[in-house]
Amino acid sequence: MKTFEYASPNSLKDALGLLSDTWGETEILAGGTDLLTSIKQDVTAPRLVVSLKEVKGLSGIDSKGGNLSIGATTKLKDLIANEDVQKHFPGLVTAAKNIGSAQIINAGTVAGDLLQRPRCWYFRNGFGLFGMAGGKELVPDGDNRYHAIFGNGGKAKFVNPSSLAPLLIALGAGIDVQGPKKERSVKAADFFSTPKTESEREYALQANEIVTGISIPLSGKKNGIYEVRHRLGLDWPMVAAAVAFDESGGRIRNASVVLGHVAPTPWVAERATAVLNGQSRKAGAQAAGNAAAQGATPLSKNAYKVSQVKVAVRRAIEAV
Ligand SMILES: Cc1cc2nc3c(=O)[nH]c(=O)nc-3n(C[C@H](O)[C@H](O)[C@H](O)COP(=O)(O)OP(=O)(O)OC[C@H]3O[C@@H](n4cnc5c(N)ncnc54)[C@H](O)[C@@H]3O)c2cc1C
Repeated sequence: MKTFEYASPNSLKDALGLLSDTWGETEILAGGTDLLTSIKQDVTAPRLVVSLKEVKGLSGIDSKGGNLSIGATTKLKDLIANEDVQKHFPGLVTAAKNIGSAQIINAGTVAGDLLQRPRCWYFRNGFGLFGMAGGKELVPDGDNRYHAIFGNGGKAKFVNPSSLAPLLIALGAGIDVQGPKKERSVKAADFFSTPKTESEREYALQANEIVTGISIPLSGKKNGIYEVRHRLGLDWPMVAAAVAFDESGGRIRNASVVLGHVAPTPWVAERATAVLNGQSRKAGAQAAGNAAAQGATPLSKNAYKVSQVKVAVRRAIEAV
């Protein structure tokens, strides 16, 4: 590991003042459960690490203006324990509870979960985001069993690792971002992107910006998730599905279905949404699962994920 300097400012302004506008020169530390691993694995070698632990006003959960606002450094354990989150967003509680171990839930933060770097083992072992060696892409002929089955036509074949992101997208959440000069809110649906070059990141954030919170509309939408996981494994899911919808007269309306761990970004399953609207849960669940799997382009070792998508969507709807 390369030696780095460490700063722990106690205001957002001071934290912003320390950040470089070039990725990798400085890095932000929240709970550190992903960043420290990334530094040890040489995924990044910053000159300076800027901790958010002492920055005031970045954690806590509040309802305001028809939204539930979740501070960026709110711990996963506090998200799980919050009564408003339990009442309005039970799917988010399930997603957070499923994450890793008690230690990760106690230390990890909500923004850290959204911004954690991909788990692709080529990326984590020195072959870059695209898994390249000697000008050759290693993933297509390599061990791609946990890689993408959607959105994998370009060089990026890793999957987005966040368990919270799919439901936040399905619920129409916004991500609040503060930069050196201005603040902005980005729809969660627009926040994640597929990098085209090794120097880009997987999200719509500049190196000198800080995520300050997440706002979820209190729209009354029912919601749920289902993750296909290794039994009792301290690992990321193989496939996840998140659903949110209104329901009246036994019919689903305004549905949104978003898949996790299947593409370089959370994957909005538009065909599943179209199938689900106007249906009863019972009739819609299986059909939506089948529709969600359409258009998948599995790699040599991950076709099993296509069946898992069908099951995950059906069970997410049943879990609501
Ligand atoms: C064994 C294991 C199993 C896991 N299983 C799962 C799982 O099933 N599902 C899942 O979703 N996750 C899983 N995780 C990942 C875990 O959820 C993340 O490591 C954790 O949420 C990261 O939060 P953190 O606060 O520790 O982030 P950090 O490690 O501090 O930061 C992570 C990244 O986010 C950036 N960052 C953090 N906060 C901000 C901010 N406010 N503004 C801008 N940038 C920021 C950092 O610079 C860094 O790049 C697992 C981790 C482990 C070790």
